[in-house]
Amino acid sequence: MLYDTIALEDHHLVSFGEKTPLVVERGSGIDVWDVSGRHYLDFTAGLAVTSLGHAHPVIVKALIEQAGKILQNPDSGLTYAPSRARLLAQLVRILPQPLHRFFFANSGAEANDAALKLARKITGRKKIVSMMRSFHGRTIGATSVTGQPIQRDRYAVLVPYCTFIPYNNVSAALRAIDDETAAVIVEPVQGEGGVWVPEPGYLPQLSGMCRKTGALLIVDEIQTGFWRTGPAFASIAQGVIPDFLTMAKGIAGGFPFGAVAVSEAAAAKIEPGDHGGTYCGNPLGCAVAAATIEHLLAVDIESSVKRVGEHCMKRLIGLQQTFPTIVKEVRGCGLLLAMEIFREEIAGRIHREALSRGLILNIKHGKIIRIFPALTITEKELDVGIEILEEVIATAAG
Ligand code: PLP
Repeated sequence: MLYDTIALEDHHLVSFGEKTPLVVERGSGIDVWDVSGRHYLDFTAGLAVTSLGHAHPVIVKALIEQAGKILQNPDSGLTYAPSRARLLAQLVRILPQPLHRFFFANSGAEANDAALKLARKITGRKKIVSMMRSFHGRTIGATSVTGQPIQRDRYAVLVPYCTFIPYNNVSAALRAIDDETAAVIVEPVQGEGGVWVPEPGYLPQLSGMCRKTGALLIVDEIQTGFWRTGPAFASIAQGVIPDFLTMAKGIAGGFPFGAVAVSEAAAAKIEPGDHGGTYCGNPLGCAVAAATIEHLLAVDIESSVKRVGEHCMKRLIGLQQTFPTIVKEVRGCGLLLAMEIFREEIAGRIHREALSRGLILNIKHGKIIRIFPALTITEKELDVGIEILEEVIATAAG
């Protein structure tokens, strides 16, 4: 039986946003095809998730092999799983001491929620300092520390004692972080907020303030982690060792999975019963995540993200120079890039016209076009998309 996908979704799904009328059937690398067989380029990687591209053989193999063995352990996390051990061995390869203790989650929001909850338990303090324009997820805890009023305003009472300071502002942080602060939560680059890269010294200074006051530092690497900005983790590359480092999105190349790395000192204060979850650390997710990390290390993804990211940035700067009245700014690092358009109406036109020419883009806050394709994208593939973007901007300009 053939279902009318758009009619059924529009009729029965609770809508959380305006949808694009694209019914996706399958993908391969950065290519996707709709149900009529029409081809598109995906410059969103499913929102910074499908780091190896769509239907990568490494992911497919890991899923099939593990699914044929076991999906969920008897007694869940209270028995051992070889795929979980394999994932831990990979995480230890890419994270420094003392971030060698982990627990798992099913999404980014859940990972952040757990880190916040445990930070309060460990310190016995209430106050959480977060950043304006940040995004940390959609559970009530993660929403409470998300620094975009539009995400918080409609839910009556949120988790109390959460305060917000401007991002990338050291003096505001100095005023806010004190000996009543349980935790500071921060993204190394603000992703959903519109791709904002802080000054190089910012994260290390925040880390220093946390050490001085006894506040715990939670670095949210859910969007930036697993080589999205070049290095495996943007915070670690700056010499910052947080108490909690939260991960999801790219960790398992598209399979829903999350993790939290915890410092040995913080882990020593976590006791049985403090946290848990039915599916956390399930063998299937662990197998896919382990295979994803092994593959990305084997192909030296760090070098290619740096190279292709720089190339993409150059091309975007070229577009800004060609269309200075349309493109306000380009920013970002690695393959987490954004092009801000002066006017929302033009940005909307670029978004729609790009789709009609076979390029799928993500748009944030009405006028920020995020470019964050699969990490495995080649310069040639990228150029094809940028050329479509150029044609589309030229049309929007005319
Ligand atoms: N934290 C950051 C920095 C994110 O970008 C996101 C999602 O966009 C989240 C947390 C929430 O992750 P999830 O949607 O997996 O709950």
